[in-house]
Amino acid sequence: MIIVPECEIAGLMSREAAFDAVEKVFAAMACQKAYNFPVIREAIGHADALYGFKSGFDRDSLALGLKSGGYWPGNAAQGLTNHQSSVFLFDADTGQCRAVVGGNLLTALRTAAASSVSIRHLARQDAKVLGMIGAGHQSVFQMRAAVEQRAFEKVFGWNYHPEMLSRLEDCASELGLPFESVPLDQLGQEADVIISITSSQSAILLDEHVTPGTHMACMGTDTKGKQEVEAQLLGRATVFTDEVAQSISIGESQHAISEGLITKAGITEIGAVINGDHPGRTSEDEITLFDGTGVGLQDLAVASSVVDLAVQKGVAIEVDF
Ligand code: NAD
Repeated sequence: MIIVPECEIAGLMSREAAFDAVEKVFAAMACQKAYNFPVIREAIGHADALYGFKSGFDRDSLALGLKSGGYWPGNAAQGLTNHQSSVFLFDADTGQCRAVVGGNLLTALRTAAASSVSIRHLARQDAKVLGMIGAGHQSVFQMRAAVEQRAFEKVFGWNYHPEMLSRLEDCASELGLPFESVPLDQLGQEADVIISITSSQSAILLDEHVTPGTHMACMGTDTKGKQEVEAQLLGRATVFTDEVAQSISIGESQHAISEGLITKAGITEIGAVINGDHPGRTSEDEITLFDGTGVGLQDLAVASSVVDLAVQKGVAIEVDF
């Protein structure tokens, strides 16, 4: 069995490799070659923690396994990341445990890769302004991956906690882009691509804020009850997702579905666009919205790439198990 510890991931996994792995597995999901198993997520009644599993199997790549972890709110006080996860890969032919891989950085990279895939396939080619809603841990990974997809000329940002906006400003500056903190209505009106990555429980961005032609990647809503954008906006947009089952139950679509503004049949998996089975954006005025809920197969895809890279570079730890 191979172990790839968290401390090795940064030296092994690139944004490009994460993008390729996620794009491939989204494509495999849309043609039913890869599928996710139902998500388990439980409040364990200890340390105020939420703990769960995301798992699946990709018959194309033979990636089989799970990501296990969750959210421990007291970790920051101990100098640890609140979100903790590890990926376990199994041999699809024998069921033997093949690898254990640190999942913290991989989660950020695979989540950023998902919105980046949506931008590549759905945003207008002439997109110039990137709007960021959210300035937490994930936000900078999102920004770095997004700017690789279009020739963005500036970044607008908004955050519920304004004191955190310097994180976005520093990241934009590292990327050589001007940054401006703006009110939500200006962000909605002027941004060509908007990424939302917050833990909000109610709509931040309203339908009236968003102008025709925008592409939105809603990445924060991954649990029942969370919400980042007004449900009416999904009614006006063409809605895409990583996986329909998650989108309607734990994703941004849950609210528009329960209010009867969209139907399950009207939501398209982004893999269908990647595979050429759906045209994606069909006009410059269309609003496209990607509901990125985060699927276990993304974790398995990036973890499998890391294992291959670790073996190639001689940093994989091999143990008898
Ligand atoms: P974080 O704790 O570092 O940051 C939280 C962000 O949410 C900050 O911008 C904060 O200001 C904002 N926020 C907090 N309370 C808010 C409120 N009431 N209204 C509006 N904004 C509020 O978290 P993070 O690691 O950056 O993750 C952000 C979100 O993304 C979380 O909800 C997390 O569960 C989700 N996430 C999704 C995926 C996926 O695959 N879709 C993957 C990882 C994380």
